Amino acid sequence: MGSQEVSSTVDWQGKHVTVAGLGVSGIPAARALHERGALVTVVNDGDDERARAQAAELEALGITVRLGDGATLPPSTELVVTAPGWQPDKPLFLAAAEAGVPVWGDVELAWRLRGDDGRKPAPWLAVTGTNGKTTTVRMLASILEAAGLRTAAVGNIGVSLLDAVLGETEYDVLAVELSSYQLHWAPSPRAHSAAVLNLAPDHLDWHGSMAAYAADKGRVYEGNTVACVYNAADPATEDLVREADVEEGCRAIGFTLGAPGPSQLGVVDGILVDRAFVANRQKQAQELAEVTDVNPPAPHNIANALAAAALARAFGVEPAAVRDGLRAFRPDAHRIEHVADIDEVAYVDDSKATNTHATEASLAAYDSIVWIAGGLAKGATFDELVTGAAKRLRGVVLIGADRALIREALTRHAPEVPVVDLDRTDTGAMSEAVARAAELARPGDTVLLAPACASMDMFTNYNKRGEAFADAVRARADESA
Ligand code: ADP
Repeated sequence: MGSQEVSSTVDWQGKHVTVAGLGVSGIPAARALHERGALVTVVNDGDDERARAQAAELEALGITVRLGDGATLPPSTELVVTAPGWQPDKPLFLAAAEAGVPVWGDVELAWRLRGDDGRKPAPWLAVTGTNGKTTTVRMLASILEAAGLRTAAVGNIGVSLLDAVLGETEYDVLAVELSSYQLHWAPSPRAHSAAVLNLAPDHLDWHGSMAAYAADKGRVYEGNTVACVYNAADPATEDLVREADVEEGCRAIGFTLGAPGPSQLGVVDGILVDRAFVANRQKQAQELAEVTDVNPPAPHNIANALAAAALARAFGVEPAAVRDGLRAFRPDAHRIEHVADIDEVAYVDDSKATNTHATEASLAAYDSIVWIAGGLAKGATFDELVTGAAKRLRGVVLIGADRALIREALTRHAPEVPVVDLDRTDTGAMSEAVARAAELARPGDTVLLAPACASMDMFTNYNKRGEAFADAVRARADESA
């Protein structure tokens, strides 16, 4: 069975499908295919208690599950449906390629199954990029809701796209977050409109190269019908639009923090304005919202708001709904989250800043900062980040396994900035980091947790790291109250 022959009209009855990976995407995929009559085998590397419990549930339905071996391709496999994070060079995929067996990700499967029950499928407004995806997709959903549309934020955001597509709820439009991994395994989806927010090196170990990473991100524009939204400050995103094969009449729409040119959205005198979706874009501009309607109104977040607005406007949403949706939006936890003010110092949790690109945006949002950074560097270098932020750093507190890398960059590019190097990884380490940061801070400063690193050397995940920071800050606030 070649990839062309497997389509939404395929008779799944008796088809041998291997689902690679239990989890957010694997379980709904296995169920959906089983319900359609496919003979499903789930393979999973892990064999822990959770996996066994999940396996038992699927086995009770009649689905075969093989735990502890995600490498071997079951011999009769006609199609592999993989969890997006599985690395493309895994033996399972090499075996599939050798056998001429197609491999689909969860997004590909959702696209192929949408509408196979006879219902009219909801169009997708898709968002990808290195940073800001979740925020932008949530802003977009908030705007679409304000416009009275039935919608949901789905995809890489932790809500299975397959569940959204096959579930009972009917949607007018979906706000879809797509990761580079998901796009890698999804050749067919065609969004109504899509945005690439920015492009910076990330996950290069997975994709193999920056070019491969960019190409996977660029897939989001393929076949767009109304608008390809790019970041005017990031030419690489515009290049991807140029390379994409889109439907006739689909437009390239830029967003910029400056005054917008024709076919762009931008900012003029504190107002978000649209010079793209107006009757005469040479002469006209439409006011959408005020910068202060964006929460928080940090520069990178205004860019996210403009991208969300562009996609909503491409879908025909009225300006007032853009404003109302942005006003109603509340950011997720640990994303530039203001925790408390103590002695005229603001404490901000941006634990989600797990790479240098996100941290750069975060540091750019404040004038005078005591920066708490460090963790697992994932191969990153910090020279550019430190050089750009040096002038705004009151001091730095370093935590985590790879803190020496950041310290060396600080020695090279900001030797006058005081640095506290915390050589401890126990549960009290964050509390000491906050205490040392408080010593360095002066009234008017911001103590910013924006680690530029992953958290797993000290914490279960970035949520736990952010919670540890917020707990330590609140404890200090209580003491000083
Ligand atoms: P993603 O879903 O792409 O990981 P999030 O919205 O969860 O993005 O934000 C992740 C991190 O990136 C946060 O720390 C946030 O401060 C930072 N960030 C958000 N938007 C942008 C942007 N447009 N450019 C750079 N960094 C950003």
